[in-house]
Amino acid sequence: QKRVWVLQVPFLAATRQETADHLAQRIQQGERMQVVTANPEIVMLGRESSSYMKLLQQADVITPDGIGVVLASRWIGEPLPERVAGYELLHTLMEHANQHGWSYVLVGASPASCTGAAETLQKMYPQAQCAGHFDGYFTPEKEKVILASIRDAKPQFLFVGLGAPRQEEWIARHLKELPVNLAMGVGGSLDVLSG
Ligand code: UDP
Repeated sequence: QKRVWVLQVPFLAATRQETADHLAQRIQQGERMQVVTANPEIVMLGRESSSYMKLLQQADVITPDGIGVVLASRWIGEPLPERVAGYELLHTLMEHANQHGWSYVLVGASPASCTGAAETLQKMYPQAQCAGHFDGYFTPEKEKVILASIRDAKPQFLFVGLGAPRQEEWIARHLKELPVNLAMGVGGSLDVLSG
């Protein structure tokens, strides 16, 4: 799969649908991946912090979640096909989960938003299984419980809405010990889903 480097970040050159299809295929091969939908805030944080930039560059798939990166890719003559926003990619991935009966765990947002987001996803994608949802205001003790629950559940998807850069750092820190196929930071998407 082709990557285009913009502002030192290697973006996957694919539409949202192609990105989700690509990820679904890798999930079926049993891979474990960190996905970053890099919005302007994330790209700027990477430019300010070399450790965060390194983390971004080590992610398995990075999508351009901003029209600026798409425009920049055109100027350098290696056009990215379209903006691939986190909230939209989340839904396209959930369509795959619904088709295959995959499970997912949500971590992040307030207790009310996190529960609301789980309810919305269960209504929209009834064949996908919510294997746990945990709000994003946890103590170190609760964090251990969350990690143990994810280890037990072995979900295909782990969606983490703690805001950038914390969500990407949290995923990078824990992914090695977690039996999930795809972990992705989703920013404020859980708030949006809960309505
Ligand atoms: N959040 C959290 N725990 C924290 C701080 C923030 O779960 O300690 C959540 C917050 O409730 C919100 C999300 O992280 O749901 C961050 O949303 P924001 O809109 O800032 O993220 P963005 O989409 O801008 O990356």
